[in-house]
Amino acid sequence: MPSVLAYHRPTSLDEAATLLAGPRRRALAGGTVVVADVRKNRAEGVEVVDLQDLGLDTIEDTTQGAGQGRMRLGAMVRLADVATDARCPSVLREAARRELPSALRNQATIGGTAAQGDITSLVVAALLVHDAQVHFHGSAAVALGEYLRDEHVRGGRDHRLIVAVTIESGGSGAIAATGRTPADVPIVAAVARSSAAGLRLALTGVASTPIEVDPSAPVVGLNPPADFRGSAEFRAHLAAVLSARALLAVA
Ligand SMILES: Cc1cc2nc3c(=O)[nH]c(=O)nc-3n(C[C@H](O)[C@H](O)[C@H](O)COP(=O)(O)OP(=O)(O)OC[C@H]3O[C@@H](n4cnc5c(N)ncnc54)[C@H](O)[C@@H]3O)c2cc1C
Repeated sequence: MPSVLAYHRPTSLDEAATLLAGPRRRALAGGTVVVADVRKNRAEGVEVVDLQDLGLDTIEDTTQGAGQGRMRLGAMVRLADVATDARCPSVLREAARRELPSALRNQATIGGTAAQGDITSLVVAALLVHDAQVHFHGSAAVALGEYLRDEHVRGGRDHRLIVAVTIESGGSGAIAATGRTPADVPIVAAVARSSAAGLRLALTGVASTPIEVDPSAPVVGLNPPADFRGSAEFRAHLAAVLSARALLAVA
């Protein structure tokens, strides 16, 4: 059986959502995960739904009135664009700059990154501390943390089309990270943000996805995974040290 049974390129959100609701459908954004997955699981066969013609590639300042600023990042905005757009919060720009090899940053999107929720994603951690909300076509928005905890999302059974991620834009942020080398993907990272609403802290490398934690007790209840890059104890230790460093940097 061929690995790709059909290729769809919808030009409206309704058409895309209808296509995604069908059996064996997979949204294709930057493709950095999907293309490899489709090749690997040849026996299954999927119909890919390419999202590139839906006009979801803009960044907008949606601040209204004098309150906390907010921004809307279209689902198809590339990480390379986030890294260079001066309107984006500086810690999100830094996270995007540090994520993935540069060639893949030009492909990978905000929607794909949120949907994937990779354990190592600095971008997801930075979105979490900016109060990220995930917006879908045809259903209510949910907080990114809640979306990542959803069993349907984790099990790959979620057929909702992400159209945008909105974030708070104010405050100041910092990243503290430890990898095998400075250029390597961090084993554990802490992303802190201070704003008028208070302190927020998120960690990568200590759960199945990046998670937001209590800044006053960042490692309480953590049960980090272990692999060749670090034991659970080492990761818990890194989480404590890096949380303190990131919080100090925004204090
Ligand atoms: C060499 C390499 C290195 C990597 N390094 C990192 C890393 O350092 N950090 C990291 O976090 N990740 C890493 N990844 C994983 C991956 O590249 C990222 O998670 C990437 O940001 C995914 O974005 P994408 O747009 O390419 O998603 P895609 O591959 O297109 O899609 C990813 C998933 O999201 C779904 N999806 C995409 N867009 C939408 C949407 N709008 N609505 C609903 N579902 C959607 C897809 O169906 C798929 O299940 C790496 C991958 C490779 C190949």
